[in-house]
Amino acid sequence: MEEKDRKRILRIAEKRPTIMRTPDFIRARLVRPDLSSVLLEMGPSCNLNCFHCGVTCGPNETGVADPETVYNVFNQAKDAYIRSVSLTDGEPMWEENRESVGIAAQFSSTTPACIMTNGVFGETPESAEDWISFLKQNEMDFQGRSNLTVSFGQPYAVSPQNYVNINQAIAKIFPEVNPGEFLYYKIINMCNGIDTVKRINGVIRGLRSAFGTRRSEYLSDRLERVAVKVYPEQGKPIDIDLEWIVPIGRAYNLPLFDEVAPERELQPHDLYIGIDAGSCLSVSNSGDVDFGDGFAKFGRETSYGNVNDQPLSEIANSIREDKVFWVYKLGGVPFVYHLAQQVEPGFSVVGRSRFNVAREILGNADKRNSIREYLEAEKVGPAWGRYIKTKDLRVKATC
Ligand code: SF4
Repeated sequence: MEEKDRKRILRIAEKRPTIMRTPDFIRARLVRPDLSSVLLEMGPSCNLNCFHCGVTCGPNETGVADPETVYNVFNQAKDAYIRSVSLTDGEPMWEENRESVGIAAQFSSTTPACIMTNGVFGETPESAEDWISFLKQNEMDFQGRSNLTVSFGQPYAVSPQNYVNINQAIAKIFPEVNPGEFLYYKIINMCNGIDTVKRINGVIRGLRSAFGTRRSEYLSDRLERVAVKVYPEQGKPIDIDLEWIVPIGRAYNLPLFDEVAPERELQPHDLYIGIDAGSCLSVSNSGDVDFGDGFAKFGRETSYGNVNDQPLSEIANSIREDKVFWVYKLGGVPFVYHLAQQVEPGFSVVGRSRFNVAREILGNADKRNSIREYLEAEKVGPAWGRYIKTKDLRVKATC
């Protein structure tokens, strides 16, 4: 199947879900490029204790990224056809992870690094300059596809001045680089709108004062995200994206979810398939590898290998051979859930979103095994065909 046909079919499926019942859809989903990015765990120890943390990181947790693991991931990324590595689930830009961030920066011209920070490192102008200089000394490639993404919003106990300090440090230390090439901000949407606009305006003012402005901001709707584009004097705009808080980890018990994602017995038809299911690998702080949305979100019981013992490309290939991965890549969490119910009639998950289901099934080695055994006598395509035939495609998935 040609790439343009594959993309066309998947685009049509978003508007006309009945196409999901065709063999073309199955092929288009299964031949998509997969496992092309890595989520690399930096925690669970963290310098903040945010109440929305989906991976339950914090100062009371133990463990940060092992530098050997970080080295092996970046060193092997090209051979494994990895296009980018995100340093996430914990704080990269603090002393405990300095060595790991240095390694990521050194490799960033061959394997783009996405450094996801909470901005604490910008506490003073000096601390911000120290870290940005450190990235420069380690030759962080800020003119390719690497980026520094600063998360902010109500849950972060971080002063707005930190963002000003970070911008000023970048303007001073990387004067030759257009900030829109590598600097992103991401506001966590708490579904309640409290002071979101005020916070965004504060960040816009900080960006303008560091990088100047050549036109007013521009607000756009992109799928589920709203982006503000801030136009500096030079180059591409700097994006401020909106990310929805997810009801898992420490956030699970937040009362605000009682309305938007009430706890209930979930069923496969309630859950989103996810357009990019199967696109990323998760690597734990000690090198264990799984597919999906991060070890901390799926649980820690399962691993296909460790990057410190085995090449990442080999581990990725063993994932590609696993039919549980095919199921996930084809139909995301809803299809995994459907098969778990075929194996164990009456099985159900009580929760708020597909992440609870993913953790319950994909985070459980026995459950994965029983789906694997079921698939010994069953082909993935026909199983999908039977599942999707019973689904009322007029009803939109809600979580
Ligand atoms: S949300 Fe980020 S900064 Fe906050 S505790 Fe979790 S990992 Fe740390």
